[in-house]
Amino acid sequence: MSKGYSGMFRGTKGDRVAEGINPNIQKEKAFSYAEEISKKGTSDEKFFLNTVTIVYDEANDKYYYGMNHGIELHKSKKSVILFGDKTHEGILPKVKLNRYPLGNCAEVDAINNALNAGAKLENLHMSTLDVSRKNIRSHSIIEKCACKNCVATFKGKIKKNNTGWEN
Ligand SMILES: [Zn+2]
Repeated sequence: MSKGYSGMFRGTKGDRVAEGINPNIQKEKAFSYAEEISKKGTSDEKFFLNTVTIVYDEANDKYYYGMNHGIELHKSKKSVILFGDKTHEGILPKVKLNRYPLGNCAEVDAINNALNAGAKLENLHMSTLDVSRKNIRSHSIIEKCACKNCVATFKGKIKKNNTGWEN
C-alpha cells in the first residue's frame, strides 16, 4: 500500500489487480451497472435487460461491461476475433447451440467491448449476473452461468469465469 502525493490512498498495481480479480467486487460492480441501466437506460435497454457481464482486464486494470442484446442495441463494432470477417474465422460457433442467437449474450457484449479496446482474451476475468426486475428490486446479486454458446466460445480462452459454465 502506498500514498499518492495528494495523501489519498492510491494503492499499488498489485493491490488494484487483487481488487479487480475479486469475484465479489466484480459482482457488486456488475450489479451497479444493471441498476444504472434500470434507472437511466433507454427504453430499449430497460426492456431487454435480464443479464449483465463484467470483464476485468488484469493487464491494464480496466473493467468492461455488457448486457444481453447489447451489441445490437448499441450497434457496437463487432470484433473480428469473435465474429470473424471475410478472411478470418471468429471464435463464436458457426451454428448456435441453444435457442439464443449467436452474439446476443451479455458475455459476448462485454468481451467484445474489451477486445475492441485492445484486450487479450487470456487476461480477462469475467462475472455474469441474472438481473431480472425482481432481482434488481430486491437487490439480489444472483450469479448466472455461461450458456452453451458462450462455453464453446470462451471456455479455455479467457483467464477466469467466476460464475460458472453450463454443462
Ligand atoms: Zn451465452
